[in-house]
Amino acid sequence: MDVSIALFTSDLRLRDHPVLAGALRAARRVVPLFVVDSRLAAAGFAVPNRAAFLADCLADLDEALRERGGRLVVRRGDAVEETCRVAAETGAGEVHLAGGVSGFALRREERLRAALAADGRGLRVHDAVVTAVPPGAVLPTGRDHYAVFTPYFRRWSAEAPRPVIAAPRTVPVPPEVRSEPLPRAASLARGEPSPALPEGGERAGRRRLGAWLRTGVTGYADRHDDLPGDATSRLSPYLHFGCLSPVELVTRARRTAGAGAEAFVRQLAWRDFHHQLLAARPDAARHDYRTRHDHWREDAGELAAWREGRTGYPVVDAAMRQLAHEGWMHNRARLLSASFLTKTLYLDWRAGARHFLDLLVDGDVANNQLNWQWVAGTGSDTRPNRVLNPLAQAKRFDPTGEYVRRWVPELAELPGPAVHHPWRLRATERSRYAYPEPIVDLDDALARFRAARGID
Ligand code: FAD
Repeated sequence: MDVSIALFTSDLRLRDHPVLAGALRAARRVVPLFVVDSRLAAAGFAVPNRAAFLADCLADLDEALRERGGRLVVRRGDAVEETCRVAAETGAGEVHLAGGVSGFALRREERLRAALAADGRGLRVHDAVVTAVPPGAVLPTGRDHYAVFTPYFRRWSAEAPRPVIAAPRTVPVPPEVRSEPLPRAASLARGEPSPALPEGGERAGRRRLGAWLRTGVTGYADRHDDLPGDATSRLSPYLHFGCLSPVELVTRARRTAGAGAEAFVRQLAWRDFHHQLLAARPDAARHDYRTRHDHWREDAGELAAWREGRTGYPVVDAAMRQLAHEGWMHNRARLLSASFLTKTLYLDWRAGARHFLDLLVDGDVANNQLNWQWVAGTGSDTRPNRVLNPLAQAKRFDPTGEYVRRWVPELAELPGPAVHHPWRLRATERSRYAYPEPIVDLDDALARFRAARGID
């Protein structure tokens, strides 16, 4: 075959890339194609933070391809129509693509297969690109997916990952193929990105990965929940955009023996777990995975206070402000702020998930929607009615109050753990701090939740 197409989607890298390797094996020349898909923008997924990161990723990918004699070909429009157009222009015989799990990715794959077949061309879908273990590769007897993490993890751990693939030395691209200029963030989404976003791209991801495996991972088992310590990998945006390969991460982390590396691999399995769940139940992106017959409250004022980080619960507000500033939030902060919305305020998980998706640079349908459902108790948690008390969480995971002082400057003068409960200060003292009163009483909220869920 003279030409094939490697269609890049959530896999913006050259190392350990079965799609590009497959396309290079199949043909003499390859079109590395990225389509800025107008449908994603229409569906509300083009948000400034991920747009900024994506623009970095595409620039980095283009540079890496140019170092290998190629370049990235960019088109705009409907991914299926544009890919078919490029195939017709270049006479490509095959398109290579990573298997996805979201409803969007699955529909794209189906439409692309049909459209290419109508033109006498083939579609090759590659597994273990977006996840380490492909959805459906490990299954419980008689069911189409695992609904509970622990048994999934046992089976997942027994799977041998495929070998890691080296980056290609050269990528010969047909010279005549037309490309639009690399997109800038502002052309991908409207609005200002958060001020402290990480830099996107495979190179930035590999720098972070290298440092993480050299030093960070060792203490991960003990410190991953430490809010001020910030001792997690922060690799999630690079995994989301595919700048890093999950297969490579699992392989390298397993070689880095120790409790930290083991705990880290377990988190990577959570990522795969949610992907296999969404692949089997695409409706879980919007609907309860397991209904608890909730009649969620609606309260625009409380929802706005939560979003803006002025609930009067400092640790929740710190979490929400970190999200706004960095486009990222610590996992413990995600857990406690999501529990506050769904169980303390008893507001619909979908409203919280939407806000996270609007801001998270790692925001993705599988991990976001299903983690939200896990916290709300409508997902795969085996203890669906557990409520995280924000004060208890604050004292346990931010015992000195440093995390709160970092993100809630109005309270920065309050020493030690006193910063977690400003409402206990005398009224005269409290008035010195321009900080809101709690929007809800925790005991009342707990009673309301228990009544709603029919718990005695
Ligand atoms: P580390 O602790 O270093 O973990 C390593 C990797 O494991 C992460 O990068 C991530 O890919 C994966 N991982 C860790 N925890 C989880 C988890 N609970 N579920 C799935 N994968 C996990 N993660 C996203 O990638 N995108 C999201 O949109 C997202 N939304 C979330 C929403 C809520 C309400 C909650 C509770 C969690 C969400 N998570 C999401 C999971 C988790 O919080 C982030 O993956 C993690 O905080 C990213 O930071 P890190 O890279 O430092 O993680």
